[in-house]
Amino acid sequence: MYLDKGVKAVVALGGNAFNKPGEPINQDTHLKNVDTAARIISRMVDEGYRVVVTHGNGPQVGFLAELQRDKPAFMLDALNAATQGLLGYLLVSAIDRYLGTGRSVAVVTRVEVDCGDPAFKNPTKYIGPLYHEREAEELSKRYGWHFRQDPRGGWRRVVPSPTPRRIIELEAVRRLSDAGYVVVAAGGGGVPTCNGQGVEGVVDKDLAAALLATELGADLLLILTDVDGVYINYRKPNQRRLGIVHVDELERYYAEGHFPPGSMGPKVLAAIEFIKRGGRRAAIGALEEGYEVFRGLRGTQVVL
Ligand code: ADP
Ligand code: MG
Repeated sequence: MYLDKGVKAVVALGGNAFNKPGEPINQDTHLKNVDTAARIISRMVDEGYRVVVTHGNGPQVGFLAELQRDKPAFMLDALNAATQGLLGYLLVSAIDRYLGTGRSVAVVTRVEVDCGDPAFKNPTKYIGPLYHEREAEELSKRYGWHFRQDPRGGWRRVVPSPTPRRIIELEAVRRLSDAGYVVVAAGGGGVPTCNGQGVEGVVDKDLAAALLATELGADLLLILTDVDGVYINYRKPNQRRLGIVHVDELERYYAEGHFPPGSMGPKVLAAIEFIKRGGRRAAIGALEEGYEVFRGLRGTQVVL
């Protein structure tokens, strides 16, 4: 279960690394929350691991879109890049506080997607806050935004979420990582790009993390979120958390529909894809127990 020192790990941070449910989106909440992730990452680095970090941006990109909704100035691709700068800056500052100034660097990253990805015609990715139904209808009429009901109650804006095919800045990320930097990359899933141009959409950060980890030849993919592992029969009386699970068993549960799209689905898919394409271990668990999840002591551990 343990990996040798010097191995490469990709850490994917969920929304709760910056913003907990019910908290306002502002610098104070983000600064306070980001410390947990920074502490875990720096501990991994202190133990000799090379770490590349990625993170989600749904709440923040939705927040920026809403700020300029009456006078749109920038499209979603540029807003996505803005959140990579914003969240990347907060992350590298927090990591540097543990490791020393200049040890980490954030790379604004683009990912190639298929121009004809069917996702462009079927928006599914939640961004921004929850709205009441009436509000959502109003916004939809006014701005042409698409909304869907969110499982947590209420309505939320949805945008296309194309499949990431290639990470454009991969070689730059690899070289920075090999040179000893802690690299933050493909934040918010990376800016979706087709034929060299940014497109309106938000790539799923878990799928981008799997691609990044596979292409970097990482040994470990660590997905930290707000639940303590992957459950089958989630929130049913017979729910069961998976400890160590083999990838083919997890694939069976995936096919049986235990993991909804937009939350646990992409994390499980990311773990499956990473292991099937040569990764040694994918771990999914709670940010608060992140170090133990990394060590294989908590969370769900996916192996071949
Ligand atoms: P993140 O911001 O980390 O990507 P998400 O909200 O997208 O977080 O996904 C984590 C959520 O997935 C958990 O809060 C949990 O409620 C939900 N979830 C849905 N199905 C499952 C399942 N089968 N096992 C565990 N969590 C699940
Ligand atoms: Mg998510």
